[in-house]
Amino acid sequence: MIDISFEINGRKVSPRNMGNALESAVLKSVQESITKSVGSARCPEHGQRPKVKVKGRNLDSLSFEVSGCCDQLIETVKKKLK
Ligand SMILES: [Zn+2]
Repeated sequence: MIDISFEINGRKVSPRNMGNALESAVLKSVQESITKSVGSARCPEHGQRPKVKVKGRNLDSLSFEVSGCCDQLIETVKKKLK
């Protein structure tokens, strides 16, 4: 599985430590959809897995930040996340 992290309003959060059940469910569904689309992604050249950071001021304005071993992997993952 790939590494997915969340940062909401500058604070690191995870579906497990959100105080609010509704917000926790939102993060969980985002996490699941990322896992579904790029969870098995791996760089064909370096064998590395990408990392995805989900960032936003709040849960309504989330965007994805992808990092990885090379631009090719990052581009592939970004395309799949759209
Ligand atoms: Zn690579």
